Amino acid sequence: MYLKDFKQHIINSPKADVHSHLHLAGSQKRFKRRFPNAHLKFPESYDGLTGMIHFIYNHLNTVMLTDQDLVNFMEIAIESAIDDNVILLEASVDLGLANFFGQSIEKIIEVVKTLQEKYKSKIDFKPDLGINKDLNLEKVYSDGIKCLESGSFYGIDLYGQEINKDLSPFVKLYDIARDLNIKTKVHIGEFSDHESIDKTIKLLHPQEIQHGIRAVDSTKTMDLIRKEDIRLNICPTSNILLGAVGSLEYHPLRQLFDNGINLTINTDDLILFNASISEEFIKLFELNLFSLEELEVIRTNAF
Ligand SMILES: [Zn+2]
Repeated sequence: MYLKDFKQHIINSPKADVHSHLHLAGSQKRFKRRFPNAHLKFPESYDGLTGMIHFIYNHLNTVMLTDQDLVNFMEIAIESAIDDNVILLEASVDLGLANFFGQSIEKIIEVVKTLQEKYKSKIDFKPDLGINKDLNLEKVYSDGIKCLESGSFYGIDLYGQEINKDLSPFVKLYDIARDLNIKTKVHIGEFSDHESIDKTIKLLHPQEIQHGIRAVDSTKTMDLIRKEDIRLNICPTSNILLGAVGSLEYHPLRQLFDNGINLTINTDDLILFNASISEEFIKLFELNLFSLEELEVIRTNAF
């Protein structure tokens, strides 16, 4: 298939994005349209997670000031997914965003419900509850459980710094999520090594791992991932712009795929990394890293 035909094919195909952080998931194009007076210059790359957090705090957050701004960011995220023919969006809504509503977790739950309702004819929006590992644990449990029990969240996801972080305080929360039939995801193995992936699997028993790319360094870890039937939700451009991977040509994706790992391709933070799902697929096709048939397997894996 020619590149031009592949482009048309992938753009028209229904897609899922299962690793995305809702308030950062709008396209830069939609952002500029919704916030015409904001003059943000998006960096071409970031100095790791720390550099990315620096940009969010010092630049993006000068635009995201009020609760209405936050809702606008969330709406452009869902609209950007629809623009790319994403029909299933599993995006995390960060528990800490209750900040925008005077710490009212009920208000966050209400916003999530309203967004689902507003866009339901166009997209299946299934929010994950997103938890930063550094959030106060008391809050994680009190507000987190309210969210999980609200019926508005379909998954749970944990993120933040990966190296030397003790995840045992979250074991109980993951047990509660499982009891409520909520899908369990966790960020690990983007910047941390394969051993951290092993440890996380044994501790939290996630159904899916966000990134997990360093599994490629260990046959044992890849065996464990296959044995536990865990899916890796990978975001290639995010990995490259954050410096976790040197270039797409050397991305562990190919090797993970060849080792029989079930994986998907996602956007992570579209507003920062500026590559839609279709664009991620097009780059992989263009570089001849995967065949059309293999890309179809990856695309449909996400559903
Ligand atoms: Zn992520």
